[in-house]
Amino acid sequence: MGIKIINDKCVGCQICTKVCPFGAITMVNKKAVIDLDKCTLCSACVDSCKFFAIEFKKDTKKTEYIEQYKGVWVFGEQKKGIIQPVVFELLGKGRELADKLNTKLSCVLLGHNIKSKTQELIYRGADNVYVVDTPETEHFLDDTYTKVFVSLIRKYRPEIILCGATTIGRALMARVAVRIHAGLTADCTHLDIDTKEKILLQTRPAFGGNIMATIVTRNHRPQMSTVRHKVMKERDVDNSRKGEVIEEKFDAQSLSSRTKLLDIVEEVSATINIAEADIIVSGGRGMKGPENFAMLEELAKVLGGAVGSSRAAVDSGWMPYSHQVGQTGKTVCPKIYIACGISGQIQHLVGMQSSKTIIAINQDPHAPIFNVATYGMVGDLFTIVPLLTKKFKESRK
Ligand code: FAD
Repeated sequence: MGIKIINDKCVGCQICTKVCPFGAITMVNKKAVIDLDKCTLCSACVDSCKFFAIEFKKDTKKTEYIEQYKGVWVFGEQKKGIIQPVVFELLGKGRELADKLNTKLSCVLLGHNIKSKTQELIYRGADNVYVVDTPETEHFLDDTYTKVFVSLIRKYRPEIILCGATTIGRALMARVAVRIHAGLTADCTHLDIDTKEKILLQTRPAFGGNIMATIVTRNHRPQMSTVRHKVMKERDVDNSRKGEVIEEKFDAQSLSSRTKLLDIVEEVSATINIAEADIIVSGGRGMKGPENFAMLEELAKVLGGAVGSSRAAVDSGWMPYSHQVGQTGKTVCPKIYIACGISGQIQHLVGMQSSKTIIAINQDPHAPIFNVATYGMVGDLFTIVPLLTKKFKESRK
């Protein structure tokens, strides 16, 4: 894959410089020059050039034996032997994708003394679990996990791999994708199957969240996606499900690592983590100032919830970043999300729209938040929020 300007054909019209979304093209001596560090090979400039002065060669080489890649995999991330909740969410989505493809759903579990956890993965939707149970895989180590995962991919050839967009998942999948020359779509918010082509449709926000892009990987396998925690719904436990546990063995060389884990230091947080809260009362620019967030804290306290915020409130210095919900903040999926004075821009919505019940309080009846709200209250939040707090307090007596 490559792109270059054919100088003899370039007339210096500058259309390509305006079309390039990444500012990667400049004019030098009346000829276009592409900065390859900025260029993402999106090819917008190629289509815009009326003089055919931009040569773009696509890599059409396919993964060898592409038709042999079958099955959907989920990476069974564990920490201290506890399966991370994002895995159950991915098993739910993975089951749906596998059923559409009429194929198997597998979970790959690396850890130590971990075999007892395999049944739970089957109850959550996996048809089989590949388990690597050794002291060397007890904790995540970049190179050991990568070597093991890549070997399993080469052995079993899955067509799709899903992984949580966690710190571990991001580190692992990037390394795996490079080793096996596969594409990787990070931070997907929606996954589906193109029933005609039988390929994965990977949707994620692009261009600062202004559009939702659906990405397909036609020529390479596996098709790899990471998905943030709380974006997809967990699958219910079905204790009647049966599946197979396949234990995989590796030699010392494959399990070796250049790094050694010395210690794991847990982050201590004084406030409720909004990503884990069942009820979130969130405030935006409509709160008008930091002092008014006390009103939301009171409501959250009565309901046993946590306080969230939009980026506008964080950027104004009214709330700490750890409370920000949205594309560049946390993705949350509480039972109840109460949005107070939040307009509902796409970057906020991608972080909370899968909440079970959304209650929006906004004085503007046309605010986009009402498009996703289960219940909407049009009015002044400074009147409505204290009334709600009072009512909930009374109902507790
Ligand atoms: P506004 O859009 O200003 O809305 C304020 C709302 O309050 C209005 O609808 C108004 O009607 C209402 N209001 C005012 N007074 C009252 C009152 N008295 N009673 C009731 N309602 C009232 N945003 C996020 O939230 N999270 C992100 O992670 C995030 N990431 C981003 C990433 C990128 C790359 C970009 C470009 C933007 C991102 N944004 C994010 C910003 C996003 O685009 C919006 O600017 C932001 O969400 C707006 O916050 P808001 O709804 O609080 O403010």
